[in-house]
This record gives sequence, structure tokens and C-alpha cells, in this order.
Amino acid sequence: MKTRKVTFASRPQNQPDASTFAVVEETLPQLQPGQVLVRVDHLSIDAWISTMLGAGSLHGALPIGGTLPALGVGTVLRSQDPSLQQGDAVFGPLGAQSHVVYPAGMLRALDTSEIPARAHCGVLGLTTGLTAWVGLNTIGGLKSSDTVVVSAAAGATGSVACEIARLRGGRVIGIAGGPDKMDYLLNQLGIAAAIDYRSEDVAARIKALAPQGVNLFFDNVGGTILDAVLDNLAMEARVVICGAISQYPRLDQVTGPSRYLKVAERNASMRGFTVDYWSAAHADAVAEISAWQKAGQFRLREEVLQGIDRFPEAMLKLYSGHIGKLMVAP
Ligand code: NAP
Repeated sequence: MKTRKVTFASRPQNQPDASTFAVVEETLPQLQPGQVLVRVDHLSIDAWISTMLGAGSLHGALPIGGTLPALGVGTVLRSQDPSLQQGDAVFGPLGAQSHVVYPAGMLRALDTSEIPARAHCGVLGLTTGLTAWVGLNTIGGLKSSDTVVVSAAAGATGSVACEIARLRGGRVIGIAGGPDKMDYLLNQLGIAAAIDYRSEDVAARIKALAPQGVNLFFDNVGGTILDAVLDNLAMEARVVICGAISQYPRLDQVTGPSRYLKVAERNASMRGFTVDYWSAAHADAVAEISAWQKAGQFRLREEVLQGIDRFPEAMLKLYSGHIGKLMVAP
């Protein structure tokens, strides 16, 4: 049996482009005891994948020729392990490929009776919904009285962060780029206000929208946007560093916050996190998000590109603009 996969063809100087990736076909190995053959159904397109393309990478540099890493959901086609049966839906680090032979222990069986498997790339995804929940609650101590600002608010993690903060009663201000994203944030996600960082003065708009200051900032972007929010913190604000996508193309030349002394002045805290480190919180996150999802309370938009050959295009969209959760269906 063959698999079609996306490999790392060349290391980009700055942002990745089409020459960064190659699509190849390979024959899969024979199934051994303890292994399963999985058809990959949906892959989660995540910013962390792009952090592995540079030489001095945040999560370790991907070797040239290696298969692009990706989390995803799939269906067991054949099993040589008693823990998984043919037809089971599974979640795991499936990689950018159409089929894969893996040890069963690398995969988690999913209960799809009430929530479809692909939600485990989106609202229940480790790198999307669980990241938003852990960042806001475990790290940020979200309160219903908070004025919450979210950057990259119309992306995957940002959208779910907006939704969780809104569902908990917070007043949510989203920052994103372009009129379509403003429309999505205000009219689909239903948050209180949206700021277009491409055409507006972010610091001035936050000052006008939150005259008492920002209580909780969930930052996905870093750079100048982080500075603009630091200038408008409320007393005892919490700044949660989820990521810094504006800095990923040049991790060897990261621009740190020049307004960080505001943290001292406002008696605030600034704390980063990685979602996998906080695994003890995941069960609570899954329980609360699942309840909202079953009640139909999430409005996260999903964009699914069909075919593994479109994985490179999906990766480039992370920088050129997409709305909500981006996935590839191999
Ligand atoms: P995403 O938000 O769906 O996509 C990235 C978004 O970033 C784009 O839609 C784009 O939106 C925005 N962006 C790109 N370049 C930018 C720039 N130079 N300045 C401002 N905005 C820019 O991606 P995601 O996978 O959900 O990741 C979002 C963030 O969460 C990333 O920083 C990622 O590293 C972080 N994350 C952290 C953890 C953790 O454990 N801490 C886990 C998962 C993800 P615009 O069109 O609005 O610019």
C-alpha cells in the first residue's frame, strides 16, 4: 500500500514558500504486531509546524527530507493490536500524509458518538481549543468581570479564546488583520469589539475601548501588538504569552517587548506556557468545551482544504490570512 506525503524540501530564509515543500509517494511498511494502518482524515494546520522550518527553531529544527509533522484524526483500516479495531477513530501525530503505519500506543481512540472526530483538530484540538482553555484559565485566571484582549483573534486558537472568554461572561476585544476578519469577529463570534491592526492604531483603539485597562491579554502575535497592549494594562492584569507568530519567520532576531516595564508599573504578570506541559488541566478543559460544543455554543469557522497536495498551500495560508480553524483532508 502507498502513502502520499509532504516532505521538507528546503529551509526558507524568511517565510516559507512553495519551494519549502515537496509531495512524494512512498510504499508503506508491512504491518507488524502492535501496529495499525491508519487513513488520515483531517490534519490540523498549526503555527507550531512553521516554527520547525528555520535553523534555530523553537521546537527543534525539522531535517531536510523529513515528513512535515502534523496532529490529526484518522480511521483505523487494519489493526495488529488488541487496543484498536478496524473502523476506530483515532487522534495522534499522524504527519502530513494520506496513510500511516504506527504503533497503536502513539494513538488515542476517540469517542465520536456525540462529537465528530474532526472537532479534535478544532475546538477540542490540543493546539487549538485546549491551548485557548489552558492559556485563559490555568495561566490567565479568567474571570467573568475581565476585559479580555486576544491577538490573532480570527485564527484558530484566537477564535476559541474569544469564544471561551465570551461564554464565561468576559468583555472580549479581538485584534486581527482586515475587514473580513472584523466582520467574522463581530458578527459570527459575537465579541464586543474588534481592532484591525493593519489599518488602525492598536494602542489608541484599546485605550478608547478599555479606558479602565485590559485585565487579561491572550497574546498569539508578540512584537508591536504586545507593546500596544502592555501600554493599556489594568492594575494586576495578566498577560498570557501563548505565542508570537510575528516573530517566527526570524527566530534568531526576535524583537522583545519594549514596554515591559508597564508590567511592574501595573503590578501585572506576564507568563508563558506550552499546552502539553499542563496536561493535568486537559480533562477539565475537555469537559467544559465538550459541554459547550454539544450545546451548539461554538461558532468557530472551519476551512478544510481537500487533498494532501494542498498541505503546502494551507501552511502558507497561516501567514497570508485565513479565518478560524484551518485543516487539510488528505
Ligand atoms: P492561527 O491563529 O490560525 O493562524 C495564525 C494567524 O496569525 C493568522 O491567521 C494571522 O492572522 C496571524 N499573523 C500571522 N502573521 C502575523 C503578523 N506578522 N502579525 C500579526 N498577526 C499575524 O494559528 P494557530 O495555530 O492557532 O496559532 C496561533 C498562535 O498560538 C501561534 O502564536 C502559536 O504559536 C500559538 N500556539 C501556542 C501553543 C502553546 O502551547 N503555547 C499551542 C498552539 C498554538 P491575521 O490575518 O489577523 O494577521
